[in-house]
Amino acid sequence: MIDSYLKSGKLASKIRNDASKMIKDGTLVIDLVEYVESEILKSGAEIAFPCNVSLNEIAAHYTSPADDKTTIKAGDMVKLDLGAMIDGYIADTAVTVIADGNIDENYTQDEINLHEEIVEASAAGLDAAIATARAGIEVSKIGQAVHEAISEYKLNPIFNLTGHSLEQNNLHAGISIPNYDNNDDYILEEGQAIAIEPFATNGKGIVNDAPGHYIFSYMANKPFRMKSTQRVLKHIQHNHKYVPFSGRWITEEFGIRKGNIALKQLSEAMAIYPYAPLREKQDCFVSQKEHTFIIEKEGCTITTL
Ligand code: MN
Ligand code: MN
Repeated sequence: MIDSYLKSGKLASKIRNDASKMIKDGTLVIDLVEYVESEILKSGAEIAFPCNVSLNEIAAHYTSPADDKTTIKAGDMVKLDLGAMIDGYIADTAVTVIADGNIDENYTQDEINLHEEIVEASAAGLDAAIATARAGIEVSKIGQAVHEAISEYKLNPIFNLTGHSLEQNNLHAGISIPNYDNNDDYILEEGQAIAIEPFATNGKGIVNDAPGHYIFSYMANKPFRMKSTQRVLKHIQHNHKYVPFSGRWITEEFGIRKGNIALKQLSEAMAIYPYAPLREKQDCFVSQKEHTFIIEKEGCTITTL
């Protein structure tokens, strides 16, 4: 088990580092997403969730639809969040990169300075979490450490986003790791796998749903009159029963029109759950950094370093 966590962690870390280098002026988001997903599959691992590439004020849960024309421009705050899975053991890791290029064509020097601080703050939050995480500690203490580190930059964490425990074939296994002291007195145990993911922003630190649905997860079997919708549900049950999947994978398999109709019907009937992209309430920029950890007696092992 530990061995598979270490293997998926090493793989996710390498792909994250390689893909980060593609983040520059003019890169199509779909090229980045497809690079990450194909590298995971090429290595023989499985994709634990669609590669998220969330720009600027979008904190999370954006992945490209089939015909995505979204292009990264110099100075954009790009959050790359990916997951690889070996024997069901997941590595979940994210990094924020300010896209290379003629940044001052798009942003003022003051904005550039602020954006660099926002990126540093989530990294400092994660460092503080790493220094705190060990068996026997309450999860709210990790949240407190994250919040304090981000506050030193006079910035806010995202209060309504959390890290999470991981179990075999289960990305969000029930325990939440907050980004502030939320009084949760759940105590971490040796051997537990968790993902910690501080987000930082100069806004209020709340995210709300933005339009569109690009990532889904399977919920329950339901009967459908429309044959093509039934077929899509069978396909999802067969291929994506445990971890989230991309709408793009469905439209590639069934065509854009049929695929999208099925995704809409399945969502409405609660056979699948549609995740909305999450946008900072004041449209302020958001950074994120994330690693996966195994909790040890005296500290933690970072699998995605
Ligand atoms: Mn993640
Ligand atoms: Mn995560």
